[in-house]
Amino acid sequence: TISSEASASAANYVQQVFEAVKRRDPLEQEFHQAVKEILECLVPVLARHPQYMENAILERLVEPERSLSFRVPWMDDSGTIHVNRGYRIQFNSAIGPYKGGIRFHPSVYSGIVKFLGFEQIFKNALTGLPIGGGKGGADFDPKGKSDREIMAFAQSFMTELYRHIGPDTDIPAGDIGVGAREIGYMFGQYKRIRGGHEAGVLTGKGLLYGGSLARKEATGYGLVYFVQEMLAAQGLGLEGQTVVVSGSGNVSIYAMEKAQQLGALVIACSDSGGFIHDPQGIKLDTVKRLKEQNRSRISEYLKEHPHAEYIKGSTGIWNLPCQIALPCATQNELDEEAARALVAGGVLAVGEGANMPSTLPAVNYFLQQGILFAPAKAANAGGVAVSGLEMSQNGMRLSWSFEEVDERLRLIMKNIYRSAVRAAEEYELPGNLVAGANIAGFLKVADAMLAQGVV
Ligand code: GLU
Repeated sequence: TISSEASASAANYVQQVFEAVKRRDPLEQEFHQAVKEILECLVPVLARHPQYMENAILERLVEPERSLSFRVPWMDDSGTIHVNRGYRIQFNSAIGPYKGGIRFHPSVYSGIVKFLGFEQIFKNALTGLPIGGGKGGADFDPKGKSDREIMAFAQSFMTELYRHIGPDTDIPAGDIGVGAREIGYMFGQYKRIRGGHEAGVLTGKGLLYGGSLARKEATGYGLVYFVQEMLAAQGLGLEGQTVVVSGSGNVSIYAMEKAQQLGALVIACSDSGGFIHDPQGIKLDTVKRLKEQNRSRISEYLKEHPHAEYIKGSTGIWNLPCQIALPCATQNELDEEAARALVAGGVLAVGEGANMPSTLPAVNYFLQQGILFAPAKAANAGGVAVSGLEMSQNGMRLSWSFEEVDERLRLIMKNIYRSAVRAAEEYELPGNLVAGANIAGFLKVADAMLAQGVV
């Protein structure tokens, strides 16, 4: 047991670190939110193990090892020149080279890249693979851009980024607005500038040039595997459960696919304009064609399936009664009001596919109500885990079958679930996977930092 004195001094230390973060970068709200959630979970750990305080581990953890921002000039199809801002944050390399996606979205600024990079440290540690935490992006809006404009932007972005990355230093991948097409254009540019085929410098590549089977499916499938573990511990399964999934990008589509394969009825998904509700079950072939091929709005679904309904605005989706909710769109898409609506609608389990999709009050409400809650950095780690496996295959210059990668993914998700459960129990917070995931991820990184001295 932990003395109340030790707890008080740990809480005090955490508070000081948090205040210093806010003072240094007062406008980076999303980063503050991510830091607050983690630090609060670490109080019992610090109380029991004062060496982390004595060695200023938290002060070191919240400060990125390196943070870059750069100009990205590009020309549109009419000949007009635009300038965007690109970012790469190399947050923590205690357990491996920096690893994390690149996001192209107009909302991107330092606070978004920083929160994502910070979360990535712990997520990557949880996978059990040797990868550190990083993230990048640009405030570029891919919506409505031609293929040539996307290529021009991706090439310009890489023309600066290439000097900061490499297969043993920093390995970017996709995120919102960056899929196989954008990775392909960035890889082509990197290869051209470097003059060598370093396959392991980016993950999420096309299958013809070093990509891994099951990478595209990995985040969504992994999320459902995690939720499956959580349900199984209660003697439940996905069969016959009603599922609501927000988003209609890569994470959402493959979460829906796996949920359907396991016998669930998926009744809704969304995009930034609104959501579709199909009580007969979402026809995934249509969603894939609309989103993966045509890049159209989800509202187009109604043209083919007129029995479904489309409702404008993306937050109303949480008012649909369901047993399982999978927020797979973006940060802070699910607030306390939405959480209350879900609980009133009988939700049993919530699995976060996006990064930090639930606000802190929403998370706390779910935990208070005893809802099975799978936090993002554990539940969506399947994507980066298979990115790690892509790096392994690139290093060996061979590729595994879909079944082999999927089996490894399944095992990794099971292990993440178990380590989160175990850490929560060790700190007398049984069932609190938010605390469990944060503690388990933190301990790996913190111990690696201690072993490497003051760096
Ligand atoms: N962007 C994904 C994430 O949030 C994947 C990162 C990667 O594969 O490196 O974890």
